[in-house]
Amino acid sequence: MTATVPPSTDAAHAHTDERYRKVAIIGSGPAGLTAAIYAGRANLEPLVLAGNVPMGQLMITSDVENYPGFPEGIQGPELMQKFREQAERFGSTIVERDVTKVDFSERPFRMWVGDDLYRADAVIVATGASALWLGLPSEEAFRGRGVSACATCDGFFFRGREVAVVGGGDTALEEATFLTRFADKVTMLVRRDAFRGSKIMQERAERDPKIEILFNREVAEVKGEMTVNALTLRDTATGETSELDVQGLFVAIGYKPNTDLFADQLRVGDGGYLEVVDETGSGIEGVFVAGDVHDHRYRQAVTAAGDGCKAAIDAERWLASVGEIEASTATNW
Ligand SMILES: Cc1cc2nc3c(=O)[nH]c(=O)nc-3n(C[C@H](O)[C@H](O)[C@H](O)COP(=O)(O)OP(=O)(O)OC[C@H]3O[C@@H](n4cnc5c(N)ncnc54)[C@H](O)[C@@H]3O)c2cc1C
Repeated sequence: MTATVPPSTDAAHAHTDERYRKVAIIGSGPAGLTAAIYAGRANLEPLVLAGNVPMGQLMITSDVENYPGFPEGIQGPELMQKFREQAERFGSTIVERDVTKVDFSERPFRMWVGDDLYRADAVIVATGASALWLGLPSEEAFRGRGVSACATCDGFFFRGREVAVVGGGDTALEEATFLTRFADKVTMLVRRDAFRGSKIMQERAERDPKIEILFNREVAEVKGEMTVNALTLRDTATGETSELDVQGLFVAIGYKPNTDLFADQLRVGDGGYLEVVDETGSGIEGVFVAGDVHDHRYRQAVTAAGDGCKAAIDAERWLASVGEIEASTATNW
């Protein structure tokens, strides 16, 4: 069910406020910036509350080889800079700060960045998700140089190599199985003495001759020079350490969607992901959702961008339907 929020009585004042926009977008990864491009091209002059760490997860990766339009591949930060330039070209204002509080109980919807209040008639939530990491300094040092959190994205670079996957859930099992397409050998490192994942995924991994499973093992250190060449492992039962020669480490211990901000405002479902109704709806009319903040299934730049496009089109149509913009000015996409 989608709730309708009444317009506030001080709407007239809100429309003259420079911190007011027809559309605000929270988040500036592929979803948020694509929404900004579309909303900008619809002359909505969107405000992008981009976050303290703007432009999303691709900023921490090197080669992106599966984003269409770049046959030679492109560096993650360079791709995101292009998204940003395209959004700015069509009139987006980008504020590189985290939204700290939202109130979607009245229109225009309200968003705070510290003490600064921003308002918008429609809001697109695109705050993404963050991969969980082990938290080792050596892991951080080798991120993008052998350490990854995304097999779909980086598996290809490990053709003919040996890699390890950390994690005992379905994601880890899926990543390990996927990586056998490229790697000669995949060692699964499971901290406990059993998997947490589904039986069928476990059996698939156990049957795969390229996969070796080590239970009661955690990574103590990632080693290498320019790139990873080994891991120091610790046996969680005995405390003994050992070395494992690998050229890649895939950390698959889960994702945390960035939804704390919306806990008392929007519907947060399993694993902390936002729930959506009818493609991009949040359950509150005028508040839309795009990208990894709700998508625990695909988690790709291209799907996040597609979501951003859909959310912006839906926002524009909704604004026209409630008379905030003239229906005749709604874009013919
Ligand atoms: C290491 C790595 C490599 C990857 N490689 C690839 C690849 O090769 N190809 C591919 O398709 N995908 C890749 N991905 C996945 C891809 O990056 C994501 O699917 C995509 O970035 C999701 O886009 P998004 O816009 O939904 O969210 P994100 O990219 O997560 O962006 C969300 C943004 O919202 C901001 N934000 C969060 N909270 C707030 C707040 N309170 N206020 C304001 N802003 C906020 C964040 O700071 C961030 O900038 C990779 C991911 C990782 C981690």
